[in-house]
Amino acid sequence: MEHMKEFYIEYDQSKLNETCAPIDLRDRDLIIQIYDLLRNTLLWLGGGAGLAAPQIDISKQVFIWAKNRDMNNIQLALNPSIEPEIESGTVESLEGCFSLPQKFFHIERYKKIYFDYFDINGKKISRIVEGFEAVILQHEYDHINKNILSNKGKLFKSFNNLREHQEFLENYRKISNYA
Ligand SMILES: [Zn+2]
Repeated sequence: MEHMKEFYIEYDQSKLNETCAPIDLRDRDLIIQIYDLLRNTLLWLGGGAGLAAPQIDISKQVFIWAKNRDMNNIQLALNPSIEPEIESGTVESLEGCFSLPQKFFHIERYKKIYFDYFDINGKKISRIVEGFEAVILQHEYDHINKNILSNKGKLFKSFNNLREHQEFLENYRKISNYA
């Protein structure tokens, strides 16, 4: 039987309101453990654009994201930093969050960002990112800096039941970002 997509993870929400600590890049075991937990949770949720450690009760500067929602291409960011390229402007994004059940928010995101992080091997990466991937990275980066959609975004839609929520998701799949 197909897994019923809940689009929600039930965790103690308190970590969402904490500033996450940097992870020790030499602690390979912990890094792999957190990566596996994040990845397995995202797959269990039926896929999505990304997931951050505080969403699964781990207060560390770690998140994963899937470029183009491709579950075969999940990447890990350790101790990331994001600086907007302000001149490129912003875009209004419609997003949902696995930590906020059955709600969608409008939120302003930068179109283009400078993204620095350490990858799963501890290698420093510096990239300029734009488009959908830039939006997702900003969502995840917010999570490790105690910013969730409900703080920064404007509530667009709230659903009372799972069926309505799923219908909406199907209609808006192309523009909805879930992370
Ligand atoms: Zn989220």
